[in-house]
Amino acid sequence: MSQKRSCKECQRLFTPSPRRPDQRHCSRKECQKARKRDWQREKMKNDEAYRAKQQASKKAWREKNPDYWAKYRQDHPEYVRRNREKQREREARSRIAKMDVLEPQSFFESGTYRIIPVRCDLANMDVILARIEAVSPGCG
Ligand SMILES: [Zn+2]
Repeated sequence: MSQKRSCKECQRLFTPSPRRPDQRHCSRKECQKARKRDWQREKMKNDEAYRAKQQASKKAWREKNPDYWAKYRQDHPEYVRRNREKQREREARSRIAKMDVLEPQSFFESGTYRIIPVRCDLANMDVILARIEAVSPGCG
């Protein structure tokens, strides 16, 4: 007899189907969606033929609907704003990751720096975030 286990997505307890004893997701709609998403992600990562097929069908769709995304972005400014924010976050994270690689000396040595406050919270003046920008010789 199969025992109850907790769903990978929603963590609720469920009884796996006797026909699929290694079932990880319960039967709720959201969890089945998540299961499909997981499956697709794995497939895209590991199955080159599947990936090529998906990309080809995406490309064909784009060619059939060349204005879809431009129109979508026009009709959904909130979507555009959120995406832009997410992109900025990704860029900031990758900048931080790159800074971690730099040796502390090479980062702080040599030269004049300009400190530019990027956020100054008036209610909390002891917290000021600043960007340090190196000024190249000759223009400082
Ligand atoms: Zn679930």
